[in-house]
This record gives sequence, C-alpha cells and structure tokens, in this order.
Amino acid sequence: MKKHNFSAGPSILPQEVLKKASEAVNNFNGIGLSLIEISHRSKEFIEVMETSKKLVKELLNLPEGYSVLFLQGGASLEFLMTAYNLLKVDGKAAYIDSGAWSAKALKEAKFLGEVDVIASSKDKIYNYIPKNYTIPTNADYVHYTSNNTIYGTQFKEFPKGESLLVCDMSSDIFSRVLDFSKFDLVYAGAQKNMGPAGTTLVIVKDEILGETGRAIPSMLDYQTHISKDSMFNTPPVFAVYTSMLTLQWLKNLGGVSAIEKLNNEKAAALYAEIDRNPHFKGFAEVEDRSLMNVTFNLTIETHKDAFNALCDAASISGLKGHRSVGGYRASIYNAMSIESVQVLVNAMQQLEKQLA
Ligand SMILES: *Cc1c(COP(=O)(O)O)cnc(C)c1O
Repeated sequence: MKKHNFSAGPSILPQEVLKKASEAVNNFNGIGLSLIEISHRSKEFIEVMETSKKLVKELLNLPEGYSVLFLQGGASLEFLMTAYNLLKVDGKAAYIDSGAWSAKALKEAKFLGEVDVIASSKDKIYNYIPKNYTIPTNADYVHYTSNNTIYGTQFKEFPKGESLLVCDMSSDIFSRVLDFSKFDLVYAGAQKNMGPAGTTLVIVKDEILGETGRAIPSMLDYQTHISKDSMFNTPPVFAVYTSMLTLQWLKNLGGVSAIEKLNNEKAAALYAEIDRNPHFKGFAEVEDRSLMNVTFNLTIETHKDAFNALCDAASISGLKGHRSVGGYRASIYNAMSIESVQVLVNAMQQLEKQLA
C-alpha cells in the first residue's frame, strides 16, 4: 500500500497522474518514443505546452490580456525576475513580510531598487497574517505570499491598493476560487500543488511589462518568454507534461470550485481534531489558518515518540514540521484525499486513548 503523503514539497500528486506520467516516460502516446527524448519543437510536445496553458486559463478563469508561462528556476528565481521586470529605475516596491519566502523575495528585490516592507509578522515567528497596513500609492507594485507554507498561515483576502499586485502563490494556486483580474503577476513553483519540481508557472498581465526603464537580460525578461511561447530555450518537458496531467485531473474533478470544497472539508476535519484533542495545539492564529499546510504541536513534547510511532504504524509520511517552527505540519494539497486526512485524525485520537 502507498503511504499517506503529507510532504510540504515536492508533494503528493494524484495516483493516476503518476501512472500516466510514468507511461509517457516509457512510450509517449504510443509514438514509440519517450516524452523526455523527443524534441520540444515536435508537434507532440507543442501540443502539451498549448494544452497546459489552455488548462491554466480555463481553470483559473483568466481574463483576456494575461500570458501564461512555464519557466525554470523555481519560485526563487521569480523573486528576482518580478523585481527586474516591474521595479522602475528610481522606483520603489512594497512587500508584505509574512514568512521566510516573503523575506527571501524582498531580499532579491533589493538588488534592483528600494524596498518598503509595509508589514511583517516576524515578531511571532510568522504565526499570523499581518493586517492594518497601508499600501503606499507611489509603489511600483505590492508583493505578498498568499500561503505561508512553513507556518501554515494564509491570506483570506488579497491586499487592495492602487499599485500593481504581485503574488507568490506557490503553495495554494488552484486550491480556491480567486478573481485573477485583481492580480497583475502571479507565480508558483509547480511542486506544491500542480506538478513535479522543475517548472514555475507565471501568469502576467501583458500591459504591465516594458515600463521599468532598465535593460533586462534575455532569460530574465518575461517578454522574451512570452514572445517565444515559453520555448526560448528548452522547456522542462517532463515537469510541464506532468503538470498538464494534474490540471486535466483537476478539470475532470469539476475544477477549482469543486476542489475548494474538498479542501475546506479536509482542513476543517484536521483543525477540529487539533482543537478538540487535549494533546495537540495549533501553531497559526485561528483566523489565519491555512487550508493547505496545517501546523501543530504536541502540548507535551515528550509524547513525541509515542505519536511518531502511531504515525509510522499508520503509514503516515512527511509530517515533520519545518526546522524553524518544529512540531508537525500536515500538507493537505489538492491531491490529498479526505481518507488520508482521516487516517491522521485517527492517529491523533489513538494517542489520546493511549494516554488516558
Ligand atoms: C516552496 C516555496 C517557494 C520556493 O520554491 P522553489 O521552487 O523551491 O524556488 C517559494 N514560495 C513559497 C510560498 C513556497 O512554498
């Protein structure tokens, strides 16, 4: 039997996606060649790229005027690219510091210009979402991280202001219905909720580009990749193909609104147990809790061995919290079933019985 995979990233993918991807590595669509040994300029692969883009547009209900790109370098390279492409010479960018990924993003932006950190939750190990900040009217853009993978916090509303809105959506894209017309640039490493590591999804409003007054190296320029349909250089063919399979899986399931309902149910079941069971406590502030990464601790640390043994016996994998937070983190991305969440809830209840 396969394990119940609560890994934060790279993370769980639907079983049928893994099966189809492995078949394509052997013999792609019955053409007698592997997906990973054919030209990215073949009609077979061009179709994969086109279908992937179409699925992103459809599933997110993207308005006209946005480009969809599949790039490399992870979300971490986007920290730099966003600033390169949007931060004007002598301009200023506003950042909301809601976790380690936000902090890394703003560090890269500082290479290009002035950065104004308009809010931070660092004072409490990022266990809440900063509120009551004002967005400066003269910023080139505002950057925020919608879901803080490490701490288990999530923005329930997006920051509203006059500036362009840029979002790192690595760990919650495709998990809930959002109005993408409110965003100007969104990026997400594939390996949390979309596919395997190796590609980064970028969604950018075309009209915001080309305004910085600086020269941008080709590979860092979104306009290069837009003009070449994400094929300026060899794209990560396996990562794009497997992402396409995941998006097809999501579409067949009923799309983002259908998965959002399931995600709400999974998170509700797990948080209910954390709040009910006297041996556990949640890490994140209740109102800011993430639907994707559920962080919690034992109330008495010395029960660790007993709980870990119960998890092992139940084939639970990847539950260890991030080293900066400790405790546990259950990542319950789109592909995680409610049955697997129930297995974890049962293990928590078993601990309670054992200690009674
Ligand atoms: C994982 C993660 C990143 C880093 O992604 P890479 O693809 O490894 O660069 C950035 N932001 C968030 C929110 C993440 O969860």
